[in-house]
Amino acid sequence: MKDGSSSGHGGAGRKQGAAPPCAACKLLRRKCYQDCVYAPYFPADEPHKFASVHKVFGASNVNKMLQELPEHQRGDAVSSMVYEANARIRDPVYGCVGAISSLQQQIDVLQAQLAVSQAEVVRMRMHQYSSSNQSPEGHGWGL
Ligand SMILES: [Zn+2]
Repeated sequence: MKDGSSSGHGGAGRKQGAAPPCAACKLLRRKCYQDCVYAPYFPADEPHKFASVHKVFGASNVNKMLQELPEHQRGDAVSSMVYEANARIRDPVYGCVGAISSLQQQIDVLQAQLAVSQAEVVRMRMHQYSSSNQSPEGHGWGL
């Protein structure tokens, strides 16, 4: 869909070790070096991930964020950025805050339902207790 450049059969002209550029470098049309900061997180076969974060945060901000983080946190940071970017694209006003507040509303509704159910359990226990203490024959006190 992008460029119709020939990917000839056999790949005879391919230099040894020349990997295809990562999704970020491909979109930014630059050379993907071996130490490319994007490459581990934006593989060529998932171009939509970088397209989203680039659109929302901008490539240089993504780059800056990745550089500032220790390597073991970068994967999580990228997942979060991709999630937030997609949410922002879906809902330009609220972004992922929309999802958070809708989940918060669900929690409120479920907590209210739970409170009603717990009250019902208490009511049924009371009923059971009082009916077992008042047998129809006599009052059951003593004797
Ligand atoms: Zn790259």
